[in-house]
Amino acid sequence: MSYVDEVIAKVIEQNPAEPEFHQAVKEVLESLRVVVDANEEAFRKDALLERIVNPERQIKFRVPWVDDKGQVQVNTGYRVQFNSAIGPYKGGLRLHPSVNLGIIKFLGFEQIFKNSLTGLPIGGGKGGSDFDPKGKSDREVMAFCQSFMTELSKYIGADTDVPAGDIGTGAREIGYMFGQYKRLKGVFEGVLTGKGLTYGGSLARTEATGYGLLYIVDEMLKCHGDTLKGKTVAVSGAGNVAIYATQKAQQLGAKVVTVSDSTGWVYDPDGIDVAALKEIKEVKRARLTEYKNYRPNSEYHDGKGVWTVKVDIALPCATQNELNLDDAKALVANGVMAVAEGANMPTTLDATEYLQKNGVYFIPGKAANAGGVATSALEMSQNSERLSWSFEEVDSKLKDIMVNLYHNIDDAAKKYGFEGNYVVGANIAGFEKVVDAMNAQGIV
Ligand code: NDP
Repeated sequence: MSYVDEVIAKVIEQNPAEPEFHQAVKEVLESLRVVVDANEEAFRKDALLERIVNPERQIKFRVPWVDDKGQVQVNTGYRVQFNSAIGPYKGGLRLHPSVNLGIIKFLGFEQIFKNSLTGLPIGGGKGGSDFDPKGKSDREVMAFCQSFMTELSKYIGADTDVPAGDIGTGAREIGYMFGQYKRLKGVFEGVLTGKGLTYGGSLARTEATGYGLLYIVDEMLKCHGDTLKGKTVAVSGAGNVAIYATQKAQQLGAKVVTVSDSTGWVYDPDGIDVAALKEIKEVKRARLTEYKNYRPNSEYHDGKGVWTVKVDIALPCATQNELNLDDAKALVANGVMAVAEGANMPTTLDATEYLQKNGVYFIPGKAANAGGVATSALEMSQNSERLSWSFEEVDSKLKDIMVNLYHNIDDAAKKYGFEGNYVVGANIAGFEKVVDAMNAQGIV
């Protein structure tokens, strides 16, 4: 059995009931075959792949808090510190009822390579809880966040592990967590990113993941002699990534015609009204059914359906495994030319293969959505310097990072004979840097 197959089999055996983690490991290791096969003896002797797929540390803890009725609730908190070869652990905190150890491990594993691709000194980690902020009062969210941070604070720090936001963790949650960390530790340090602008946050961090996604798509199209101008785009999700992807796509001359949430989706033939979307999601925290009140020409549909619309570009920006083989077939039948992942692992493995086989340019999340964590790292730099950079400065650094990232993954794919396969390119480019750092640091 090849070393890659052996390690995949071990991961499945040793981590039962964690299908998302298996999926992420398979996707990465399969595409690294060409590199691993060429170094099989040395990698096997050093148990390099076993060390890469096993987190350095995983923490699971109880999070008790009191709801508005005086009832005690208990959630489970997680932090997986996956790999610190190139810098302090860095990765978001997801608050969603679907969170379990396998989900956090898949996200943490992906994060190692994503962070490496940014070119910045950040290791990979991820955390969160099965707590659902939806429908909770601000006081309940604060009670949860304070209890969560009381335990998490023992394991994080500005030079060790710097969490950020993710699904369900926005500015409000980061604020409550930061306040509790400061109170417990008595230090004001950049221990979290995605902070508010009045207490150490970075301008352009809110926009960064969505903007970065469009910067990389724009660069890819340019390199293929094309442009975003005049393209029709389907976006899924209506959260942080989806909103700012929509905004930047429209600034660059494309028309975004869909957004979605967990209950339904909107089709707006005139192009999504970003101001209305922001008001519904960021201010009112309401459902997308409201969108029709702002745009009578639009359609609201229950359930799933974004990928059935005829578009040139599809940007999945909601959650994992939201674009499956049937969706990929519908997109291809409608003539889609590019798919880029704003969310983490939104495309199933068979859907990815189908898109690639049918000549669709496909940029995986670890490259396409790396703008968020890259700007988080820029927030860390500003905190260390005790300075704040202007929006334009951060945005222009973000753009440079995404343009370089595109060329990095494109070059890696070409170097190994997989021209145009950005999945292989991203995995190899991310992996090589981490392996180099791990080898330099000995068996740790
Ligand atoms: P948000 O919580 O702001 O938004 C998530 C959106 O996706 C919401 O519209 C939500 O709908 C929808 N959604 C969530 N879960 C599901 C589900 N199970 N089925 C259908 N729809 C769902 O999160 P973000 O925008 O921050 O994150 C979106 C994705 O991008 C995630 O995969 C995240 O890991 C990834 N990402 C985020 C980064 C960031 O900087 N924020 C950085 C890199 C990656 P509803 O409101 O109805 O739940």
